[in-house]
Amino acid sequence: MSNLQIFTYEAGAITDAVSQVIRPGAVAIQGGEIISFGDQSQVRREVGSREAVRQLGNYLILPQFVNAHAHLDLTSVGQMSYSGAFVQWLQSVMNARPQTDEALNASMQKGVCASAKAGVGWIGDVVNSPGAIAARSEAKLAGISFLECFGMGMGQEEGCLRLASQLQDLDASANQLGLQPHAPYSAGHQVYQRAVDLAIQFEFRLSTHLAESKMEEQFLVDASGPIVDHLKAIGKWDTSIKASGLHPVDWMKPYLKKAEWLLAHCNYVDDDHIKLIADCGASVAYCPIASDYFGHHHHRYRDMMAAGVNVCLGTDSILCQPRNEFQPLSILAQMRHLYRRDRTSPRVLLELATINGCRALGLDPSLATLQPGVQARMCAVPIDPDNSNDPLAQVLENDYPVRSIGFSETLL
Ligand SMILES: [Zn+2]
Repeated sequence: MSNLQIFTYEAGAITDAVSQVIRPGAVAIQGGEIISFGDQSQVRREVGSREAVRQLGNYLILPQFVNAHAHLDLTSVGQMSYSGAFVQWLQSVMNARPQTDEALNASMQKGVCASAKAGVGWIGDVVNSPGAIAARSEAKLAGISFLECFGMGMGQEEGCLRLASQLQDLDASANQLGLQPHAPYSAGHQVYQRAVDLAIQFEFRLSTHLAESKMEEQFLVDASGPIVDHLKAIGKWDTSIKASGLHPVDWMKPYLKKAEWLLAHCNYVDDDHIKLIADCGASVAYCPIASDYFGHHHHRYRDMMAAGVNVCLGTDSILCQPRNEFQPLSILAQMRHLYRRDRTSPRVLLELATINGCRALGLDPSLATLQPGVQARMCAVPIDPDNSNDPLAQVLENDYPVRSIGFSETLL
């Protein structure tokens, strides 16, 4: 057995997505790795030492969460209000986006720090430049950086060249890098095809925004509506952009069949689309607070799960989060939102927030558990240990902030 110091956390309760709630529970770590997890007497027996015990009697210990869809480079912009006019909103985001390397780096640092403090251990971060990828990996926030690519109509070749040149500048290992053709209304077939080819060649992960709004559908079906106005306003419209007559998911079908995708949003989908997404093994990152912010209600995440789709949770950018949220980049806040709005089972929400998020990012799902052998990325949320109600339900009902503990404490 290793000589490294063993730290034991004894908590009011402890659980992960693959174990029942144990109360009171304990977890022992050594060298940053979980070596024992269970009820307190069992862990004491297995570890055989009580030299460094940390008492967290008023807390539930959970694995850290996976934020499968975020835009950390926008963190410095902060929360923004939404009037209902998407195109104006998009233009104000483009204007507010950090413009210099220094501003981008500061925004990334802020986003990484806010994520770590909110108990996020892994992230699927959509980035606009190689600098943002370096900022995340230097800050040791695990996950995938999805490099955005754009290009419509005659601008597609230029978009592909920009992507190729950014990839040449990168010194990132493939398992931390992904590509994100932005959306079917901002990236054309040529850009999606290039992204798929590169992803297959270099084993990059793939993600895209899909079926987010009715405007997107209108744009793809008959090349009309506010998105056309937006493309004209930013000088990206040309007459080679044609109506496809297709719903966004049908438009994506050739690419869905070629690779494993992480699809952000999917707010507007029919049964056939859900079946196609399931058959192609794609994951869906649902960002419930962001969807509600834009007025996209009645998301079919439960139908998707029933059809076999791997659904996970994301925050989207900080812009869409409530101003009064103390931890706006928190996945627990997304879980609380769904629990309170839909009464979705706490156990299901924990799956979405942990193991499903890992699957969506191509990571081993056991990473976001408390099972022996995994790195101790844990967090703790206050509960009332004398309250007989399910501790997981308690943390969804209360509004206490999350604390990261274990391995990641050294990062804060
Ligand atoms: Zn997004």
